[in-house]
Amino acid sequence: MMLFQPPPITRYDLNFNLFGIPVRVHPIFWLMILLFASSTRGLLQYFIWVVVIFLSLLLHEMGHALVMRGFGRSSEVILYYGGGLTVPCAEAWGTTWANVSLSRKQEILVSLAGSFMGFFLVAIVLVFIKLSGGLVGLTLLFGFLPFPVIQLAGSNVLLNSLLMSLVWVNLFWGIINLMPVLPLDGGNIAQHLFLIADPYTGQRKAYQLSMVSGALVAVAGLLLLRSLYLAMIFGFLAFQSYQALKR
Ligand SMILES: [Zn+2]
Repeated sequence: MMLFQPPPITRYDLNFNLFGIPVRVHPIFWLMILLFASSTRGLLQYFIWVVVIFLSLLLHEMGHALVMRGFGRSSEVILYYGGGLTVPCAEAWGTTWANVSLSRKQEILVSLAGSFMGFFLVAIVLVFIKLSGGLVGLTLLFGFLPFPVIQLAGSNVLLNSLLMSLVWVNLFWGIINLMPVLPLDGGNIAQHLFLIADPYTGQRKAYQLSMVSGALVAVAGLLLLRSLYLAMIFGFLAFQSYQALKR
């Protein structure tokens, strides 16, 4: 997803390569996940949350980047204060550089790949628990939202909480990103679909859908999930779409 523009390079950036894709972690990313991770069960559990959030956001962006590479486009992954970002690199074009764009269908597949990478990991975890003799069940979050719960065979509390938080973060992050709100992945997918259907009114329709669904998610986040965080983010995105519509 892309909430804000890519941040400037700092000397505290962590840089590495994963499957040939350059990854840059901006220092504020760590601050963000330190604030976001929460555990009432001690420092080790808290540390597990931090690691799981880091790995899950990285996996999500790698999904985008790997599918983009499959379509012949190289990119860079950035983890920053807006979450994660996959930025296409300019390609050598004769003696100069050019931004070669993907087709709309390819863009849709690239956008889907982030969340589905996470869902795929969740599926692997659930199958692993089942095969190792553990329990996979469903609970109702807030009384209405079905959510998987797992219980490993044996009593490995730490491994169980590691796997549980992997399931949690990847489902949560994957679903949030698929909301049809710009500039989230779901918003991009809706925009490309609208533009395929009608190049003249598509952009406007995408912003209208984004504004309405952003407002709905904000209200639902506040009233049903009691999350001020969700309400603020989606309220902000709905307002952004409203401003784009006015232009
Ligand atoms: Zn994404």
